[in-house]
Amino acid sequence: MKKDWLKYLGYATAGIITVKLIMNEVSDKASAERIKLLHPRMRPLAVRLLQEAKRQGINLRITAGLRTAAEQEALYQQGRTKPGAKVTNARPWQSYHNYGLAIDVVPLNQFNQPDWNSTKWKQIGAIGKSVGLRWGGDFKSIVDQPHFEIGPPIRDLIAMQLAKKVDAKGYVRIA
Ligand SMILES: [Zn+2]
Repeated sequence: MKKDWLKYLGYATAGIITVKLIMNEVSDKASAERIKLLHPRMRPLAVRLLQEAKRQGINLRITAGLRTAAEQEALYQQGRTKPGAKVTNARPWQSYHNYGLAIDVVPLNQFNQPDWNSTKWKQIGAIGKSVGLRWGGDFKSIVDQPHFEIGPPIRDLIAMQLAKKVDAKGYVRIA
């Protein structure tokens, strides 16, 4: 009983420390909130991307990170059974976002507003790659400049998910 209590206290403390570290390193609150939900392997890379961009004078915001299977299905239905333009070909578990292994970013202008027509996408892509991320701007099928990801091929992630090779929080146990 006492042991369990200590274990939970340990988890809670680790969680608080992680959140505090992220809040100290990332000043944009919306970005920090999304980083907290990323796969533990992805969190430090997202922080480094934002820090290095800032060092180069680019203020980035993370607009998307972890997306649940239900959220992915809703997105997939957009432009199919629901109004709007098609935005994805990925069904649930077919996107790196579903594993917390992907982020979408946008540079902010001097008024802290997203600048989707930025001229700096190539520079942002290079920064992401320099910290160890794959960049959606390099994708051959659908070029996706705001998107960065890590991890094994998606079929391996799907297999791990099906085999329940996940940790206590539900994140896949990638090597
Ligand atoms: Zn994305």
